Amino acid sequence: MSDSSPSPAQPTPTSSPIPHPQTDNEGNTGKDTKPDTTPASAQSPPPPTPKLRLHLQDLTHPATKAWLTHIPDPNAAINTALANIVTYLYTSPSPCPSPQTACSSNDYIITQPFFTPTLPGTRSVTFIVRGISGVAYTTGTELDSDHKEIHFSLSYISTVNSTFADPAAELRGVITHELVHCYQHTRPTATPGGVRAPDPPSGLIEGIADFVRLKAGLAAPHWKRPLNKAERGERWDQGYQVTAFFLEWIEDVRVGRGAIGMLNDRLLRIGYVGEDGEGRGDDGFWEGLFGAGVLALWEEYGVYLDLLEK
Ligand SMILES: [Zn+2]
Repeated sequence: MSDSSPSPAQPTPTSSPIPHPQTDNEGNTGKDTKPDTTPASAQSPPPPTPKLRLHLQDLTHPATKAWLTHIPDPNAAINTALANIVTYLYTSPSPCPSPQTACSSNDYIITQPFFTPTLPGTRSVTFIVRGISGVAYTTGTELDSDHKEIHFSLSYISTVNSTFADPAAELRGVITHELVHCYQHTRPTATPGGVRAPDPPSGLIEGIADFVRLKAGLAAPHWKRPLNKAERGERWDQGYQVTAFFLEWIEDVRVGRGAIGMLNDRLLRIGYVGEDGEGRGDDGFWEGLFGAGVLALWEEYGVYLDLLEK
């Protein structure tokens, strides 16, 4: 369900913060619908205001009426999702030392994550509710990747309507997930010397989308919060809920608020360079962000979960 195209934002080369021992364990269960209390010093842009369009391709399909019943004010639902994206991906807890310059971790002592929130330049989002298999997917249009289309499955809406305890919450969760794909970074827009940054793992992109969904209090009913290492999942980049709960641990326990926003920002500034850079310091994607390789973090997460049980 991913197709995130590069944004037109002009990245400024910068390094990302080094790790620190701060913890911010809110014990978030994913069910809390209250927005996070944002620190007064936090830096975030206003929510984006893309042109929004809705195409209902088959008014005779009963799921179209279900959609309108559960999402009676699509504009409000979409804007709530956009606000959540800004809160969880584009809010830096610490302001930059100077608004004129991008943040650099070399400039001063870091006490918490910080970055210069830079939204992609997505200008329009068109929701198309139609007969497709699966749940939903997001794509750029052929002419211009700043214009996104979110295709939403009528048959899935039927399933949600007839089998989910809270159909509106599920549909809002899917809307949030797909909108993240319209507003997350995957790589720098510039390609110095024609060298394109590597693709991040699709599981990371999907995990970030579900991380926002989780933090927004819209976890799907079938998601199961892992309570020990055995329930953690096989791989960190499995995507969806497995990666979302891992990213939530990084944000809420290991690093602190803004950690996943900083990760998203590094995809724009530097790209997914150096996953295997264990021991390579700032050159490694994960070391540069959090001071440890992703496999070490995944192990640490497992140990944390097992300790929870005791
Ligand atoms: Zn997706």
